Amino acid sequence: MNKHVTNFNEIILPLSREIDREIAGDIEKESVFVSPQIDRIIVSEDLKSAKLIARDGANMEEVADKAKRFLDVMVKQVSGFEIKVFVDIKRKDTGPYQIGVNDGLVERGWMHDYGKGQVAYSGPVLKLAQLINEKAGELYKKAYNATDGHFPAMIDADTLHKCGYFDSHPNAVTFVGNVVEDFDAIEEFRRANSCSEGALLPQPEHIHIDGMCLNPAACFPCYPTLKGKTYLTGECFTWMGRVFRYESRNINGLDRLYEFNVRELVFVGTEEYVRECRAKALPIVEEMATFFDIDCQVQTATDPFFATVSAAKKFWQAAQEVKNEIKIPALGNDGSTKMLACGSINLHGNFFGKRFEFYCANGEPAQTGCVGLGIERWVLAAFTQHGFEPHRWPEAVRNRIFS
Ligand SMILES: [Zn+2]
Repeated sequence: MNKHVTNFNEIILPLSREIDREIAGDIEKESVFVSPQIDRIIVSEDLKSAKLIARDGANMEEVADKAKRFLDVMVKQVSGFEIKVFVDIKRKDTGPYQIGVNDGLVERGWMHDYGKGQVAYSGPVLKLAQLINEKAGELYKKAYNATDGHFPAMIDADTLHKCGYFDSHPNAVTFVGNVVEDFDAIEEFRRANSCSEGALLPQPEHIHIDGMCLNPAACFPCYPTLKGKTYLTGECFTWMGRVFRYESRNINGLDRLYEFNVRELVFVGTEEYVRECRAKALPIVEEMATFFDIDCQVQTATDPFFATVSAAKKFWQAAQEVKNEIKIPALGNDGSTKMLACGSINLHGNFFGKRFEFYCANGEPAQTGCVGLGIERWVLAAFTQHGFEPHRWPEAVRNRIFS
């Protein structure tokens, strides 16, 4: 790749091949993780080069080199898998999609955006979030006789490691830090803050990370609890999970939060049991979409793994169709339609059974699968598709959320 300087803060980097829109999107999204000195990397219209936008004072040689290595990895990604659509529900509401939902919810006092990928909500937003959770829970109970559970929001690094998370999504992890157990360090931290204007964080060498993380995938904390179990057929669990994914500067209202809620369903058991459970998930998504009257699709998907995760892994995931994604159309900040990933239906084979030691009656590790619904994205999608006027909402939903 040759680089040629256009101005002080920008460099055009030619790509070694013409890429497709999917990879271009991944490059732009992941570019926030390339270097603190890089603001963004934007792929050109013709998909043959990328523009690196560096921050003031950046060492241009260094950032260009890093960006080049990142782009080399990204252009090797395989994409363009055939996307199969399993569910395609069309809404009855004929009104236009609502633009600016995030701002609209804040203006109405129904949502507070802390600006760091976290939101507080009340009124119709809260009632809708509760209804989505309740409706999914009801359907899971009916179809799966799922057992209710509760799991912590923190997870230890060993469990995350066992789940393969550091290998696939190292950029999204959040470690919990504590002030070191040291009288002087604690006193220094206390004193610094007792009369300061704003918060003063402890010196980096006074923070220790002992391996607690914020849980990044709803189903993970369930697996350690299954250790030693043996399944003749199988069982299902459901709960509302609090999930954290570090998104750096990609955070954006309800579209992309750092902290969000997921209504989770996990099924564990024999291959046959898990297969049957997965088949029952599609009609549930249909029922959810019909109840909330929203355009909605379920289609094959691959995980947005970190750049260096092998193309082979991505290919395997797509070829096995182990992940289906629930996609609901919404509007971007510029008013263009985009498909929001509002949940997924996953098969894990015996990966977790092997690692966390739970089995089938024949001694083989048990299989697992899960369904996760991102509550806040469903909220965003529903407000996008019905707007702020109660009369456009389906009656059963309207009566609950605007009362
Ligand atoms: Zn899961």
